[in-house]
Amino acid sequence: MRAMTLEEVGGPLVLRHHEVPLPGPREVRLRVEACGVCRTDLHLVDGELPDLALPIVPGHEVVGWVECVGSDVDELIPGQRVGVPWLGSTCGSCRYCRSGRENLCDAPEFTGYTRPGGFASHLVARADFCIPLGQADPATVAPLLCAGLIGWRALARVDRARTIGVYGFGAAAHLMTQIARHQGRRVLAFTRPGDLAAQDFARDHGVVWAGGSDMAAPEPLDAAIIFAPAGELVPQALRSVRKGGRVVCGGIHMSDIPSMPYRWLWEERELVSVANLTRADARAFFAEACRASVHATTRHYHLEDANQALDDLRHGRFQGAAVLVP
Ligand SMILES: [Zn+2]
Ligand SMILES: [Zn+2]
Repeated sequence: MRAMTLEEVGGPLVLRHHEVPLPGPREVRLRVEACGVCRTDLHLVDGELPDLALPIVPGHEVVGWVECVGSDVDELIPGQRVGVPWLGSTCGSCRYCRSGRENLCDAPEFTGYTRPGGFASHLVARADFCIPLGQADPATVAPLLCAGLIGWRALARVDRARTIGVYGFGAAAHLMTQIARHQGRRVLAFTRPGDLAAQDFARDHGVVWAGGSDMAAPEPLDAAIIFAPAGELVPQALRSVRKGGRVVCGGIHMSDIPSMPYRWLWEERELVSVANLTRADARAFFAEACRASVHATTRHYHLEDANQALDDLRHGRFQGAAVLVP
C-alpha cells in the first residue's frame, strides 16, 4: 500500500510503501477512493495537537469500499462503500460514552491522528465507526465526513438562531450554509479581509451579506460560528451578537483569544466550542444533507500531491474543499 506519512513535525509528508494491513477483530480494511483534506491536518503537521506520536498517516474524511473484514464484524460486508470520520474509536464505558456524548470520550482514538488515516491507498478502521454510504461520488462525499459534520454540530449549538454570522468561509462553512438556508435561516459570511474570491463564493451559496472579518456586522446577529482558527475573531464575534446570543467555536485549535472587556460577554452572551462528532450526529447529518441536496465544491489532487493540497489550503488558494484521490 501507499501512504503519505508525517515523520517529523513541520512535514513534508513522505510517500511510504508498506504491506497491506490485515484487519483485526471488529475491524475492516478499506480500499480508499477519496480522502478530504481538513484544517486539522494542517494543525497536525504543524505540531499544534498534543501528544502527537510520529510517524502518522493523516486524513480523516475517508471514503472507500470494504475490501475484507476481520472477525466478529456483522454490520459490514466486502464491496460496501463506507465513510471513516475523525472519531475512530471510543471506550464505550466512560461517563461521556454512557451519556450519549461519545464525542467527549475519555479514551478516544482519532483517525489520522492516533490511528492511521486516509492519506493512503488502504485503511483499517473499526467497523462500528464506519458510516455506510450510498452510491454517491466518493470525492464529493469525502468533505462531508468532517467539514460537513462539524458544521452540522456547530449549527445545532446555535439552537433557533435565525440570523447567523460565519467567520471563515471554507469547507465547513459552505456546507453548513446550504443546510442553514434549507432550514430557513439567514447567513452572513466574514472572510479574511480582502479575500474577494471567498466573498463571491459565499454569495454563490446564498449568504445575505459577505465581507471582511475586519468589518462590523451590518445587522445584529442572533449567533455566530467561527471556523477560522484565529482567536482575535472571538471578541469580534461577541460584539456582533445581540443580547443572549451565542458564539460557537468550531475548530480543534485556535490562536490565543485576546483579553477583552467583560461587557462584551455580558447580557447573557455565551461562548462555547464543539469537539469531535458522535455517530448519532453522522446519521442525522447525512439524512439532512440528503434532504437539503448538499453539494461540496471540491478540488482534486493525486494522493502523492498531498503536500501541495495542504499548502494550497494553508494559503487559501481554492474555494471549498481539497480531496486526495489515490
Ligand atoms: Zn477535520
Ligand atoms: Zn468513552
